[in-house]
Formats: sequence, structure tokens, C-alpha cells
Amino acid sequence: SDNGPPAASGARGEPSLAARTEDALERAAAINRRVQSPDCRGPLFGLPVAVKDNIAVRGLPSTSGSALLRDYRAPYDATVVTRLRQAGAIILGTANLDEFGMGSSTTRGFRGPTRNPVDPTRITGGSSGGPAAAVAAGAVPAALGTDTGGSVRQPAAHCGIFAIRPTYGRVSRYGITAYASSFDQVGCLATDLRVLGHVLSQIAGGDPRDATSVSRKVPDFAAAAARPELPRRIVTVGDADLEVLDAPSQRAFHAAVGRFEEAGCEIRRIGLPNPESSVAAYYLLACAEASSNLSRFDGIRYGHRRAGQESLPTTFRESRTQGFGTEVRRRILLGTTVLSRGYRDAIYGAATEARRQITARVLSAFDHGALLLLPITKVPPRHLADPVPATADYDGDRFTILAALAGVPAIAVPAGERSGLPFGVELMAPPWNEAALFSAAAAFS
Ligand code: GLN
Repeated sequence: SDNGPPAASGARGEPSLAARTEDALERAAAINRRVQSPDCRGPLFGLPVAVKDNIAVRGLPSTSGSALLRDYRAPYDATVVTRLRQAGAIILGTANLDEFGMGSSTTRGFRGPTRNPVDPTRITGGSSGGPAAAVAAGAVPAALGTDTGGSVRQPAAHCGIFAIRPTYGRVSRYGITAYASSFDQVGCLATDLRVLGHVLSQIAGGDPRDATSVSRKVPDFAAAAARPELPRRIVTVGDADLEVLDAPSQRAFHAAVGRFEEAGCEIRRIGLPNPESSVAAYYLLACAEASSNLSRFDGIRYGHRRAGQESLPTTFRESRTQGFGTEVRRRILLGTTVLSRGYRDAIYGAATEARRQITARVLSAFDHGALLLLPITKVPPRHLADPVPATADYDGDRFTILAALAGVPAIAVPAGERSGLPFGVELMAPPWNEAALFSAAAAFS
């Protein structure tokens, strides 16, 4: 093309085609110079990545799916984003979610639903449905989501891709909009297990800006994914715990267990902690933490402010009432109630004790080097045209919340189909043993 001097501006003051071409060529040359410099070739060099819109990316809208933050732009990068950039990845953009990560469908953000690339009449599952759809549709090879109670694993299962929720503390939460701080972890999604491993290895590791992050050596998870290896023993659940699955999902799960057995794993069955208690404990604790975390959105410091109020309390109340969606308001009310005097010991205390017992049960499944194998969802992704109340989705989290309550890592692995739609299973390991999950997933896939 013509590399001559830029032509004068066009009639309406816009740069001419020649000027724009010149500009594009200069940018390309600058990129080319950077590409040729060995300093900028990190392990993720050139990898396009999408991140969930509750992870701060400097300069991009950071809405957490809430109308309250519709116009908010992040003034800084989350630690995970800084680390991705340092490794050479390209942040392609942010992706849709349920408001503040509260949901299992990706239909509850102010931007509306994300469609499942496998069948666009259906939900992706949530709350990291945007990242999962971006990966499953082939727009990006990998994405970051967050997993408070299942939010990377459920959409991964519904979209037919891999995802990992790491051990609590493995990845920094700095720059993540907090939902329930004792559960929130950044997770990764990808179509390829080794890419998933590379991304997790790059974002993991202690961070002085997150006191709950842990500084311990980060293994090379991509190398673990390249060494297929099954554990000697798989612990899973019996028929009683599988009754809630629809028939095709039960068959698909039995087939997955059968594949582990044929590959030589010893299969042991246990009963899950009472699912009603697990779901209740998770939602009570998550809502209690959310009510505290979301108090920062007061219409003064961040986000939407309802103008013309007479006093500070009415500014708070009206801004929050207008800005938050129904489900978020419900959870704040529930959380505030269980933390208030008179309820705190009876409800919050009981939920904390239930969490302790559930954690002990989950950890006991790992005796003798076993991994725990569970379904991810009870049923296939529903049609967008058949919405259900948010509360009806809570029980669907009964399997994924166990890793969240116990703080252990869990990987979502594609395991064939049910009713013509993707089916996924999850494997859980003791804390800090994500490498075993990568190797087992590689052997299974
Ligand atoms: N569905 C669960 C909830 O709504 C989990 C969501 C998540 O992991 N962010 O709390």
C-alpha cells in the first residue's frame, strides 16, 4: 500500500483513508518490534483471553453485571490480569455473568442472558456463562471466571469445555468484586487441558495484596496435564445421591464411573453430607458475606446514585433499590437478617458449624490418595424461554458447593453427552493437589 504522507482530513474532519492506513501501519510496526523482542515473550505469548466482568481490567467497563455499576470503569488491573499480561496474554475483553456472580444461569445480569453456543435456545449455566460461551464458541482459547459455589464448573459442563476451581488461596482475589470472600476463587476455563494448566500456573501464587492468598510453590500444571495418570481409587456417590439427576444424566454419570473402572481404578461409594444442609449452609454463609461486601455500593463512593434525595439514608436506600436487581436484594436482606442480633448465633453459627462438618466429610473422601468424582449439574441446560425463579436454582448447586465449602480444588471435565447436550463431571482433590486433577482429567479425556 501507499506509504506516502498522510492526506488531508476528509470533508467531515475525519482522518482520510490514507491517514488511517498510515496509522495502522505504524501500530503494526510497533507491535512487530515488540514481538521480536525476547523480553516480551511470556509463556502465554499472544494468547487471547476473555475475563469475567467482575475482574478488574484497567480502562474497561467493570460492571459485575449490575446496573448499579453500568458506567464504572476499572482504574487498575486485578492481580490475575497483571499476571496474564506479564505472561504475554492479550486481554480480549470482559464477558457476561449473573449480577455479582449470584446465580447459576447467566440470565441475571443487567445485559441480559448469554446463549449457549452448543444450542443458542438454552442457557449456558452460570455465573461465568460469558467466559464459558466465549471459549466454547471458539472466540478465545481460554478465559478467567470466578467460582464461589460452582460458577466456572457449571457453565463449563453445560458448554462442553474444561474448567478448574483451584484451592482456596491458590490465586489472588485482588481486583475481583467480592461476593462471598471465604468462598470466592478465580477459576480458568479452556477447550484444551494443557492451555488450562498454563493459564492457572501463570495466575497462581501468593500476592501481598490478598491476605488469604498463599505463597507456596506453583507447580507446572500444563506438565501435569501432559502426564496422564489415574488415581488408584475413585470415591463417588451411590444411587441415593444420584436420584435427583434426570434419567439421561444418571446414565451419563454411570458411564463416566464405568470408564474409570475399566481403566483400572478401584471405585468406592460414599453418601454425601445431607444436601439440604449443604445448600442451606452455603447460601446462608454466602449471603451473609455478600450483605457485608455489597455495603460499599452506597451511591456515594461507587456507581449509580439516585439524585434529588433529601438525606443520606434516603440516598443510600434509593440508589441501592434502583441499582441492584431482585436476586441481589433478596440475598442482601437474607444476609443482613442472619447476621443481626438474635439470629447470629442460631443461624450464622449453625451454618458455620455445618460447614466445618461438611469439610471434614469431604476431606475424609481423599484417604489413600483417592479423588472424589461427582456430577456437576442435575439436569441439562434449560431453555431460555423457560425461566425459573432464582431460588429454584439453589438446589442445583448441591454438588459444586461441596468444593467451595471445603476449600478444595475441583476440575470440570467433559464426559460425553446427555440428551444431545454436553455432560460434565467434576473431580476433587485435597487442597493444593490440582496437579493430580490435571493428570487424572488427561487420562480420562
Ligand atoms: N450459584 C451459586 C450462587 O449463586 C454459585 C455462584 C458462583 O459460584 N459465583 O451463589
